[in-house]
Amino acid sequence: MNYFDMAESYKIKVIENLKKTTLEYRKKAIEEAGYSLFGLKSEDVFIDLLTDSGTGSMSNNQWAAIMKGDESYAGASSFFELKNTINELLGLPYVIPTHQGRAAENVLFSALLKEGDIVPGNKHFDTTLAHIEFRHSKEASFLTDEAKDPESDYPFKGNVDLNKVESFFKTTSKDKIPLFILTITCNSSGGQPVSMENIINLRKLCDKYDIMLFFDAARFAENAYFIKTREKGYENKTIKEIVKQMFSYSDGCTMSSKKDGLVNIGGFIAVRDKNLYEKLQQFCILFEGFIMYGGMAGRDMAALAVGLNESTEFEYLNDRVSQVAYLHKKCKEYGIPLINPAGGHAVFVNASKMLPHIPHDQFPAQALGVELYIESGVRGVEIGTLLADRDPQTGKNRKPDFELLRLAIPRRVYTNRHMDVVAASLNELLKRKDKIRGMKLVYEPKLLRHFTAKLDWI
Ligand SMILES: *Cc1c(COP(=O)(O)O)cnc(C)c1O
Repeated sequence: MNYFDMAESYKIKVIENLKKTTLEYRKKAIEEAGYSLFGLKSEDVFIDLLTDSGTGSMSNNQWAAIMKGDESYAGASSFFELKNTINELLGLPYVIPTHQGRAAENVLFSALLKEGDIVPGNKHFDTTLAHIEFRHSKEASFLTDEAKDPESDYPFKGNVDLNKVESFFKTTSKDKIPLFILTITCNSSGGQPVSMENIINLRKLCDKYDIMLFFDAARFAENAYFIKTREKGYENKTIKEIVKQMFSYSDGCTMSSKKDGLVNIGGFIAVRDKNLYEKLQQFCILFEGFIMYGGMAGRDMAALAVGLNESTEFEYLNDRVSQVAYLHKKCKEYGIPLINPAGGHAVFVNASKMLPHIPHDQFPAQALGVELYIESGVRGVEIGTLLADRDPQTGKNRKPDFELLRLAIPRRVYTNRHMDVVAASLNELLKRKDKIRGMKLVYEPKLLRHFTAKLDWI
């Protein structure tokens, strides 16, 4: 028996009390929020699985780094701690801090994209897609067919279909493809990883057609964990070795440090090419701040440097990913329809399968999320028709492949007993699923509507 795998490899030093509310209280709270999960006050939420972004707990060493942060405008030691850590871990020489991941996208795309471009990827995250479309460019997604089957236990559902990528490269003029963005793990396909083999072969294709390969690296450490635990030949490598190898095939990355950076705010761009770095500097200064802090406080850069080293330790990742797998297993035991296998950061409930009587444009996953909050004060988030926005050309609701309720687990925050509550309350919804109604929009903005839209029951 390995007793050390049975419990977390950390202990708790500071706690924050949670509020337990009544059913009546929650019904009123969500009604007042316009049935928007983003509209709820966090103090009214019992277990908050809205996102794993910026919601993690920092370690004692990160808090110590905060106290030692250097707030100098230029040449801060905290910047160099961050830069050296990224150089060491990712092997990418040039680093630009940004205030979060989408800011990194903004700076990078300002230098690389022009109207009419096409940006291929496995599947872009929603802010990435919005930044592409905001510049009147288009996406092209190349997930494999395995990713489209929710029941399949295929271990690398973030992989790209290399044949399709090649025919796209062949038939599209090269000056319309500014870069390929590989999202690791692929958030939009359920936090599913990309295999090393797929990365290597994609690199070969990009070399053949002379296309830059960038990673959207928000969950690069979780991706490395899956390579170590699922891909043959990597079992005995350390996470840091795998990370280094993964990034050796990239020309650069954008990073949301709020994920695998283990900090509450921050991001960065890292690139291999000096000319590109020099181009990016201007946009960083314009949008973010001077190139040695780019929207981050010195103390936050210092905490990020420590966080990146902690998140690439096997022990931490094993705790993290096992907790997601634990919630997945509990839900599965109750018979709740899920996306398989468990992702790295979240469990995805298949709302269209659980509520087949609600059509996609009546937002079944949003209805499920609202009902889950009312049931137990657990907050998830809709990944479905609401998130997919309208097609900018036709103005019609896009129909995504799935209607999902995502339960994203913050890093080092909740215990498995909290996960038991989540699974048990979903089971209560399963029992009364036929009585759950569809929803309609009563207010919607044009872009990224899911953040601020308001809804009501039909
Ligand atoms: C969160 C996220 C982003 C955007 O990062 P922010 O820090 O929220 O701006 C981009 N890509 C992926 C894959 C993400 O998960």
